[in-house]
Amino acid sequence: MIKVGITGGIGSGKTIICAAFEKLCIPVYYADPRAKALMNNDPAIRQGLIDKFGPLVYNNDGLCRDKLASIIFTNKDAIEYVNSLVHPAVAADFIKWSNLHTDKPYVMEEAALLFESGAAQHLDCVITVSAPLDIRLNRVMLRDNASPEQIQKRMDNQWPEEEKIRQSQFVIFNNEKESLLKQINNIHLELQMLSARKK
Ligand code: ATP
Repeated sequence: MIKVGITGGIGSGKTIICAAFEKLCIPVYYADPRAKALMNNDPAIRQGLIDKFGPLVYNNDGLCRDKLASIIFTNKDAIEYVNSLVHPAVAADFIKWSNLHTDKPYVMEEAALLFESGAAQHLDCVITVSAPLDIRLNRVMLRDNASPEQIQKRMDNQWPEEEKIRQSQFVIFNNEKESLLKQINNIHLELQMLSARKK
């Protein structure tokens, strides 16, 4: 079983493409919701956040995300501290989850910040989902009812698409011109072959 990352900028279409891989019976690990769950429940993360930011970052429902965000907002050291707790915990959780799927030719890890977080280093290969900026902006404005400025702010935390593509083994063009299903099926076949060769 090989481990495949899938990434791409905001609104590139990672989620709908992962749903297509799931239809092909490929398990997908969604890093962002898993990270959120770990920040609520993982005792080491909880203790690390309380040690640094005080007990009020948690309440009975779990982590107060807005409170934490307001503390670490624009504070680079604090953001790095949070990442130093969360990224290794997600990596360990992904390995544990992957071990439940060793009967599959490959599993996928979906993350918007797959390269930025360092997670890509632990994977066999990466797919970047590519889409033109104007299409991505329009999609997210519609999906999230967000302003272009709010979306741009989220984009500013992400590597440029060209850099992600440069470091990827596969690209899926979700530009509403090329067939997504054809591209997904071709990559699925290649990944199955790669996996068989690795055995
Ligand atoms: P994020 O990083 O914000 O989670 P994402 O990369 O997962 O974004 P999606 O949520 O899959 O992106 O897609 C963004 C929006 O664009 C969704 O509403 C989705 O339904 C729509 N979309 C994506 N690809 C296409 C397409 N080829 N045709 C029409 N709509 C699309």
